[in-house]
Amino acid sequence: MPRDPLYDILFKPVKIGPKTAKNRFYQVPHCTGMGSGYPQTLAAMRGMKAAGGWAVVNTEYCSIHPTSDDTPFAHCRLWNDDDIRDLALMTDAVHAHGALAGCELWHGGRVTMNRYSRQGLLAPREIASAFIEPAQARRMDKQDIRNLLRWQGDAARRAVAAGFDIVYIYAGHAYLPMQFLSRLTNDRTDEYGGSLPNRARLIREMIEETRAAVGDRAAVAVRLNIGELAGFTDLTAEREIREVVAMLGELPDLWDVQYGDYYIDARSSRFAKEAAQEPYVAFVKSVTSKPVVGVGRFTSPDTMVSQVKRGILDFIGAARPSIADPFLPKKIEEGRLDDIRECIGCNVCIASDYFGVPLRCTQNPTMGEEWRRGWHPEIIPPKAADATVLIVGAGPAGLECARALGQRGYEVHLAEATKDLGGRVTLESRLPSLSEWARVRDYRVGQIEKMANVTVYRDSRMGVAEIRESGFANVVLATGSTWRRDGSGRSSFAPIPGADGAQVFTPDDLLAGRDIPGPVLVYDDDPYYMGGAVAEELRKRGRAVTLVTPAGLVSEWTVGSQEQSYIQARLIEAGIDIVVSHRLAAIRDGEAQLVCAFTARARPTAARSVLVVSIRLPNDALYDDLMADGAALTAAGIKSVTRIGDCLVPGTIAAAVQDGHRYAREFDAPPPDEVPFKRERIALTPL
Ligand code: ADP
Ligand code: SF4
Repeated sequence: MPRDPLYDILFKPVKIGPKTAKNRFYQVPHCTGMGSGYPQTLAAMRGMKAAGGWAVVNTEYCSIHPTSDDTPFAHCRLWNDDDIRDLALMTDAVHAHGALAGCELWHGGRVTMNRYSRQGLLAPREIASAFIEPAQARRMDKQDIRNLLRWQGDAARRAVAAGFDIVYIYAGHAYLPMQFLSRLTNDRTDEYGGSLPNRARLIREMIEETRAAVGDRAAVAVRLNIGELAGFTDLTAEREIREVVAMLGELPDLWDVQYGDYYIDARSSRFAKEAAQEPYVAFVKSVTSKPVVGVGRFTSPDTMVSQVKRGILDFIGAARPSIADPFLPKKIEEGRLDDIRECIGCNVCIASDYFGVPLRCTQNPTMGEEWRRGWHPEIIPPKAADATVLIVGAGPAGLECARALGQRGYEVHLAEATKDLGGRVTLESRLPSLSEWARVRDYRVGQIEKMANVTVYRDSRMGVAEIRESGFANVVLATGSTWRRDGSGRSSFAPIPGADGAQVFTPDDLLAGRDIPGPVLVYDDDPYYMGGAVAEELRKRGRAVTLVTPAGLVSEWTVGSQEQSYIQARLIEAGIDIVVSHRLAAIRDGEAQLVCAFTARARPTAARSVLVVSIRLPNDALYDDLMADGAALTAAGIKSVTRIGDCLVPGTIAAAVQDGHRYAREFDAPPPDEVPFKRERIALTPL
């Protein structure tokens, strides 16, 4: 289908200094959990974005010197010439598709750890490390500043040697140039402190140094934090930051502006919707003639057009939307809007980086697998031979399995017990602020509906007899999981006394619409979102709620997805009592016996209902029943029975989607028994 002329404006080339971007789709620098430790993984992933039509594809933060070492967080490095070849893999992959490659040169100042390099931290003043680390930074003297400028220039030259078209000065988030800009972190009395021009001097000199190093071989970009760094800087868009952009406005070739530190900039969809940064970014174009890129988890082409037409942005910046759908630009270009796999804003990608592993994505199961497994987000090998597959259960695992097998050309029959498709995604997306999660279902249902070889049966609960009678050779069980009711879980392996009482509920009860009388004690022994989400929902239903967790924080794992502080704040604001560091020891009529997680000191708490969020049990009884009679299976012509997703092992939605996808890929060609993917190897050769 040809592109809708409405979107033509998104495909206009835009000049960035000496380079020209072929369209307005700009993959801003974003973390990947890959960095210089996984150069081939990184190159293949970035190259995929270029193949998908992004005109500019950037690195993540790329350290210019060992005094800025973020180990164990993955980042790129251009510390010396030996680092050039790693990144040249990426620029080659990006250039192969006609895109420009950008390199985000980075010095963290106090916002890094130097755990690997063991160098002292540098900052404009004596100040504590930004991390929970027994370290502090020393005040940079003039020689340190001269060194920093030289490192920036050297790294810029190396970036050009690696083939980059755009080289950054990274004054974004809370890194070193921002530390100079802010009064809170800059108390200097020399020419780098005091007045705004003085505090902006370092950024100006870094731009000049970078320009001198790259000449007209590359464009120079500045990434600037234009927002309030909560509690960290007094700069705001309305005040000094506007002057900074005006003052330096024409010096770089491009402004890449973002709002606040990471946890503000990349808020999950629970806390920020599409284009949330517009009010803060809107002024930038009025004070510079240079192209401006900004982000806003843009997935709607209409919103993108509106950003450009109303003069907010020149480039549609994206990190997460380009992860969820590397082919988003191509799909708009080809008029295939239905095929866009929209980011759901769950921040699982950010958590994977935070926890030190290559990117994964709830919506895009191929993310991070481009090199090691050779997976492509849009292309999958056609079927090897005719075969029929019955998939039981249309949650995220079953839907993705059906979609991918259908794309391969197999005859697929998808049976769902209820009238609704989507399984847990459909149910959970009804919880407060989780509506965008339904996109996991909507994308897949939309794709399946176009496939003549995939048949969907709703209201079709499958038992052993129905499966045997169906006559399909391969059976996939994607029947999901059920929340455990007896309280056995993470903090207690044994059931909790009294958990068999009628006043005990689980998230399944709440999601099924059961009445849960208050006051309710939510016992959250799960580290992810469910405890907080059900507490919020119960509060919405007017119940008095106490949330108890053995952890020190509510929804502790969401520190990784950068949601934790927002979740806890929202629960407090909603009037939910929060009790941390306590376990549930016993449930009695009208009362829950809590004990301190450290001292076991008892703390009785009144509760008419107790909702236990612990672990889930796979719904695998059907599997056991089928496998119990192998002869009957053979007689029915069934060649294989396989469990996928939560039915095999309960996990995240991302894990269920990936498992369904993996089954479809490996259906006719299982990987070797040992390591099912390639690994990056350290070359043991003298340097
Ligand atoms: P996953 O996350 O692994 O995809 P879900 O719990 O989201 O699992 O989805 C499981 C789906 O399977 C639900 O929609 C449920 O209604 C369906 N289901 C469970 N048992 C059967 C069955 N016997 N026949 C058909 N569908 C079933
Ligand atoms: Fe979007 Fe979630 Fe994928 Fe990240 S993991 S890109 S937030 S869908």
